[in-house]
Formats: sequence, C-alpha cells, structure tokens
Amino acid sequence: MPAYLGVDLGATTIRAAVGDRAGRVSGAHRSRTPRGPTGVAVTEAVLDGVREACADAGVAPAAVVGAGVGAIGPLDRDAGDVVDPSNLPAGVGRVPLVGPLRTLLSTDRITLHNDATAGAIGERFFGDSTGNLVYLTLSTGVGAGAVVDGHALDGWQGNAAEIGHVTVDPGDGRACGCGGRGHWEAYCGGANVPGYARDLYDGEPTALPVAEADARLDAADVFDADAAGDDFATRVVDRLGRWNALGVAAAVHAFAPQVVAVGGGITRNNPERVLGPIRERLPEHVATTVPEVRLADEDGDAVVKGALASAITGGTGDPADR
Ligand SMILES: [Zn+2]
Repeated sequence: MPAYLGVDLGATTIRAAVGDRAGRVSGAHRSRTPRGPTGVAVTEAVLDGVREACADAGVAPAAVVGAGVGAIGPLDRDAGDVVDPSNLPAGVGRVPLVGPLRTLLSTDRITLHNDATAGAIGERFFGDSTGNLVYLTLSTGVGAGAVVDGHALDGWQGNAAEIGHVTVDPGDGRACGCGGRGHWEAYCGGANVPGYARDLYDGEPTALPVAEADARLDAADVFDADAAGDDFATRVVDRLGRWNALGVAAAVHAFAPQVVAVGGGITRNNPERVLGPIRERLPEHVATTVPEVRLADEDGDAVVKGALASAITGGTGDPADR
C-alpha cells in the first residue's frame, strides 16, 4: 500500500505522520523545534522526525511516494525553504526543507505550504467543507489559510493569507516579530501575549507577575488567571478577543468563507474564551455575510494532517484528487 508523509514544522513543535491514500495515519512522531543555532539544525530535527514517524509506521523513508510540508513562514517555495522565520530566533536564517526531504525520501512529489494553508487543505480533505473556508491558527503566531472557489490559496512563494501581519492597531502599535507594528500577531500570537499583558498593566491587583520584567509568564498563565477570576487577566483576554474579532473580520472580507475553522494551541486550550468573543463581535465588524466560526485542531494535528492530505492530493486537498 503506498505510503504518504505529512510534516508540520511549527515554531515550538515538529510533527511528522505517515498515512495511506485515505489519510489514515499509521505512524507519527512529535518533537520540540530547536531554537537554532542554525537553519540546518532545524532541518536535521525535521529529518529525524520523519525517520521516527516512518519507523513507527514500519515504512522505509525511501518507500514514501509523496510528502507534504506545512511550515512556519515566510517561505521561499522556489528553493523549498523557510527563510528567516519570524517566530524563531534571529540568526536561524534559511531552513532547507524540500531538498533534504527529496534526498531522504527519493521522491520528487513534495509539496510545501505555509502551515495555516496546510491546515485549510486538511479541513477541506478531512472535513465536510465543500465550500469556501478559512483555517485560522492562534498559536505562537497568528496565521490563516484559505480555500476559495475550490482552490487552496498558496500565493506567491506560498505566502498567501499571512493575515497575522494585518495591521489591527494603526499608529504606535506593538512591535511584531516581523519588524512591523500594530499587527494582529503582535497582540494575539502566544509569544506576544505576555508582553502585551505587561503593556496593559496599570498597577491593579493581579496574581500574574506582570510587574516583574524578568518573571516567567506565558500566554497560558494569562488565560489560566482569567479562568481563576483574576480581573486584570480578564481585561487582557477581553482585549485579545477584540483584536481577534477585527482580524477574523479582515479574513472574512478578503476570502468570503462559509466557515472559519479556528485551531492552534491557544484556541485548543481555551476554546470558549477564544471563539466566544469572535462569534459575539464578528457581526458588528463584518459588512458581508457572517460565517460559521467553529473549533478545529482539537488534537493539535491539523497542520500535519493537512500536509498529509496535500501529499495525497498533490497539493489541492480536494478529496476527488486522491
Ligand atoms: Zn508582523
């Protein structure tokens, strides 16, 4: 039975999965993404993950007939690389992906997508979504992928729908990892939530260590404190909900989806407090038809399964291309 491979290169986690033509996964592996020191070190970690997933499936890497990769951006699809990923430390530089995978797998049938585009391809392939859809990921960063009029949008060099870098806060907005200001991701990307909470802190009582600049604080702490009734944390989460609604509205206006499927670690861990404010505020921001907003990626495998679906369908995600 022919074996296909999906790879998710995320800012925090690398996932690889081996499956059959129907997308049934027979082997998988997960590891932490190295924070450098070089792009090649990241490449090596990806190749290790692929070898482990193949071993788990009992398939030799050389027997894989097609592979798909969903990766953090930006991408250089001509080269098959990620270039200066904005959610890894500066200095990582170029992360070669398609070339080294071609050598390991002995196949030329390798697709490379922005991770959220892979998520959208997976929603199309595995979901009941026959119409237009946007897959949104709220994770270390903020990204989106879109299926429009039957096509999964990749765009020039694979960088379509990088909507995390849409400006939601004009003027003197927060600095974003990409070098810009006021971008959606600068507020709602998991890596930026602690800094945003510190920006908003005004001396009110809170259990969060926001007054100590060096104290360990992550996005999960902020959401946990909100759940525990911390008023300051609730104020931060409310602001995040406002930015998320504005960002989703921009995606709705650009792509006219029937469904916005929302995944990523932040959403997975706090589904109601992420989706609720988006559903509630979207009607006031959207001039066109308000789409269904639903939870995706409950198991954290939306991108790797989307990459697998891309491998099976040659990049379209259309179940008819299987
Ligand atoms: Zn940005």
